[in-house]
Amino acid sequence: MAQFDGKIAIVTGASRGIGRAIATELGRRGATVAAVARADNAKAVADDIVTGGGVAEAHSLDVTDAAAVEALVANTLRRHGRLDVLVSNAGIARDQLLLRMKRADWDDVLATNLTASFTLCQAVLKPMIRQRAGRIVAVSSVVGQTGNAGQANYAASKAGLIGFCKSLAREVASRNVTVNVVAPGLIETDMTRAIAEGARETWAAQIPLGRMGSPADVAAAVCFLASDEASYITGQILAVNGGMYM
Ligand code: NDP
Repeated sequence: MAQFDGKIAIVTGASRGIGRAIATELGRRGATVAAVARADNAKAVADDIVTGGGVAEAHSLDVTDAAAVEALVANTLRRHGRLDVLVSNAGIARDQLLLRMKRADWDDVLATNLTASFTLCQAVLKPMIRQRAGRIVAVSSVVGQTGNAGQANYAASKAGLIGFCKSLAREVASRNVTVNVVAPGLIETDMTRAIAEGARETWAAQIPLGRMGSPADVAAAVCFLASDEASYITGQILAVNGGMYM
């Protein structure tokens, strides 16, 4: 299993669900984890990592606040002297058929799911390029690959993330910085608990592996792409979807 001793990792959306599993797993494998969420929400996961013998710090910020994101990266560099891994995971959904979709719901989803990744990546690139090493992993979605009725804003943000990461991968590959995407399918978190029971069952019935995924399933894939073992992999989409889309 890949280890992360001595590595510094930023994980956004670390308070719950998939991001929490990613932060926990990176911490368990030896990374120093900067766990990011709004308010004091990342404190619990940081405390859990520390209780488990790892190193973590909680950061309270909204990823749509560009100045706060830049300050987070500068602060992490000042404290640790390097930055090895960025996991851009924070995301929201504001589902509605397009005819009824409010402009604010389009803007909020794009700002959180796509523009925040732009801000984060731009901030971490300079130190990673200077180090001649870095791993960026963005959490997209199967919906970014297939589209989904009622999720035009979400699908646009997640498909945008794929194009963004592939372009960035080409820009920074010569500096030994890799940029990859993990595309989860239907994963058991607060986000999917909001889906009506009947609809969840209909979705789950379409999954060849016959079950929803767990946050740990996604965390394992993210840790692989963030590890030294994935040094010859860049610009890829790793689907963690139980075969839902092949
Ligand atoms: P949850 O709703 O369980 O958690 C979302 C996380 O994002 C929370 O930690 C939340 O932190 C954080 N977050 C949201 N907005 C902001 C913001 N503006 N600033 C900082 N943090 C923010 O979602 P999941 O764990 O299910 O999803 C994680 C990622 O995986 C998302 O990008 C999602 O789109 C993607 N995904 C999820 C799938 C699923 O089936 N669950 C499937 C495919 C992709 P807090 O509210 O505490 O600030």
